[in-house]
Amino acid sequence: SLTEKLNSVFKSLSGRGRITESNISDAMRDVRKALLEADVNYNIVKQFCKDVRDAALGAEVIKSLHPGQVLIKIVNDELTKLMGPVDTRIYFVSPGPTIILLAGLQGCGKTTTAAKLGNYLVSKGKRPLMVADDLQRPAAIEQLKVLGEQTGIPVYSEEIKDAVRVARNAIKHAKDSGNDVVIVDTAGRLHIDEEMMTEVANVAKAITPHQIYLVCDSMTGQDAVNSAKEFNERLELDGVILTKLDGDARGGAALSVKAVTGKPIKFIGVGEKLDKLEEFHPDRMASRILGMGDVVTLVEKAQEQFDAEEAARFQKKMAKGSFGFDDFLKQMQAVKKMGGLKDMLKLMPGLGGQLKDVDLDGSELKQMEAIVHSMTPKERRDPDLIDPPRRRRIAAGSGTQPNDVSSLVKTFKRSRDMMKAVSGGSFGGLKALFSG
Ligand code: GDP
Ligand code: MG
Repeated sequence: SLTEKLNSVFKSLSGRGRITESNISDAMRDVRKALLEADVNYNIVKQFCKDVRDAALGAEVIKSLHPGQVLIKIVNDELTKLMGPVDTRIYFVSPGPTIILLAGLQGCGKTTTAAKLGNYLVSKGKRPLMVADDLQRPAAIEQLKVLGEQTGIPVYSEEIKDAVRVARNAIKHAKDSGNDVVIVDTAGRLHIDEEMMTEVANVAKAITPHQIYLVCDSMTGQDAVNSAKEFNERLELDGVILTKLDGDARGGAALSVKAVTGKPIKFIGVGEKLDKLEEFHPDRMASRILGMGDVVTLVEKAQEQFDAEEAARFQKKMAKGSFGFDDFLKQMQAVKKMGGLKDMLKLMPGLGGQLKDVDLDGSELKQMEAIVHSMTPKERRDPDLIDPPRRRRIAAGSGTQPNDVSSLVKTFKRSRDMMKAVSGGSFGGLKALFSG
């Protein structure tokens, strides 16, 4: 699946010690391939990969602590952008009824979606009426009636062949019976054809729906996108409902529909059952496609609190041996701000080793701060100066015990020495050290 493919691309990327511009290019070539195989429209893939590349170079992924994950976040953001923005609210008119027309090819899920949407509206306190306006297939009316019985939603139907008349009469009926929403289920064909287009366009003209939704089968990939394009030229579409996303859908349709038609996906169908309709959220869909969920949030938080430049600065200081207590304190403060991100921080050069020894609850950090603040600038730069008299003075100044001071000095020295030993080494080496 698309998700699996992208996952393996990113996995190979994040396993790498260093990421270069050419690594990114390689990764993007794999991303491009995965998207094309998932039936995403070619032009969209091209533009998408360019956008990601630009963003990646702009964000200086190469310099960051977790290049692979930063790149994933960029891909995630670009996917979200591609599919959004979406307003999934249905705007109701007053006086009603609010008329919703469903159009789409045969088998895409219109009739099922009519009932799902009906259910959804009932849950919002509405009193919908469903209209059996597919007069092409003999069984179509019966199918909607069955769904009506299952959901308790009334169905309007007539035994005539004039879809425009049935639709008009249904609106009248809805007004008379106090239904505030009308859902019109129409006839589709297996392929785009003129007869179907004319019929649905005539129905739309006659009843001027407040919302016209195109129902699209996501399993049909590029076909779904092409049909969406044609429907969009004939009807004033307000949005798309993408069905069968629960199946082995390759996801390409979701990524292409908005870009190709300019019309947002409003809802998605994720199962045959009548409660399997969800509002569409581009960000969730992007995470689903990437199969990454929380990683993105984690990276976002970490980036906020601790930027790569600063980490690089620390490492440079370390190499020169000028890493002092002030720097140490800064790192600790950054770590504390990140709260629950301990596991992820273990991967960060320079921080993981300290985390093993220091239990970072708030009081511990406060004590650390107090001790460091009671040191003179000279002592902060050179902990070797701290002899027993100085230790007693610092303890008194910070309201701590002399052995608190010496244990902080010890922690500091140990981390500094360890980091010095490995600074300049590869990221992989650091990782091995800290996880060992
Ligand atoms: P229509 O010809 O457009 O009215 O399509 P139908 O509503 O009759 O649906 C065609 C088939 O697709 C039926 O077997 C539905 O149960 C199935 N279907 C519709 N929506 C979904 C969905 O979201 N997920 C799955 N798995 N099946 C769906
Ligand atoms: Mg149908």
